[in-house]
Amino acid sequence: MLSIVATPIGNLGDITKRALQTLESCSAIICEDTRVTGGLLHMLALEKKELLSMHSYSDPQKLDAILARLRSGEHLALVSDAGTPGISDPGYALVSRARKEGIAIEVVPGPAAFLAALSVSGLPINQFLYLGFLPLKKGRKTMLESFKKEPHTIVFYESVHRIERTLAELAEVLCDQPDRQVVIARELTKLHEEVISTTIGELVNATKDMVKKGEFVVVIGPQGKRRNEYCITDHHLAECSHYGKGDRTKCSSSSYR
Ligand code: SAM
Repeated sequence: MLSIVATPIGNLGDITKRALQTLESCSAIICEDTRVTGGLLHMLALEKKELLSMHSYSDPQKLDAILARLRSGEHLALVSDAGTPGISDPGYALVSRARKEGIAIEVVPGPAAFLAALSVSGLPINQFLYLGFLPLKKGRKTMLESFKKEPHTIVFYESVHRIERTLAELAEVLCDQPDRQVVIARELTKLHEEVISTTIGELVNATKDMVKKGEFVVVIGPQGKRRNEYCITDHHLAECSHYGKGDRTKCSSSSYR
């Protein structure tokens, strides 16, 4: 079986019980950087384990070897350096091949930086557009231009090397929408977590003193009126009134095991 296991994006306390159990019980862990995953096992006080490095650019032979182990009945876990495997991280090729070959797959969900940023943004998030990292060259201008008419909240990742340039470009492309909301989430769940909530008109000024270190998620509110607000109805609240009373308590939208 292949277990896809999400790991913390900064705060070790965000590891889930199921993630711990799975990393303990699997026979080997497929990861990006063996030093990062080795360090995580150590910090979580888990025993050392065989680590199989697999980058998105890994050669097909490596993928074949991993699939052969899965076919033989081994239980392997897939992690990335942080967050959810496959989300702007390697994993797609393996999961896709494993699914085509009928290998059993389970997911152990957990942190993802874009979800954490959306949650904390205060922007309408019932519907959103996740873009991963923006293209560096080809297609970048077209994508930025498309933001002008995007009716949903937009969320994307940015590296420390490009954050200044990207924010300046956003301010320029969307200059005729100065009230459009922007949230920059930096170092989420970490010691220096910082969330800046501003508008396109104020963006350059508001981020002038922002520390340009660490990891960033950018969230842009929808063009036009706030149209995607999530409305929790009384009916939904009543359905969920037993939420949290016990591990196996269920409501129609959640179940536990
Ligand atoms: N798989 C990961 C996930 O589930 O979020 C994303 C991996 S992607 C290679 C790394 C990017 O995610 C960083 O460049 C940054 O944009 C974002 N990121 C990861 N951790 C973050 C954090 N703690 N705070 C803000 N952004 C973060």
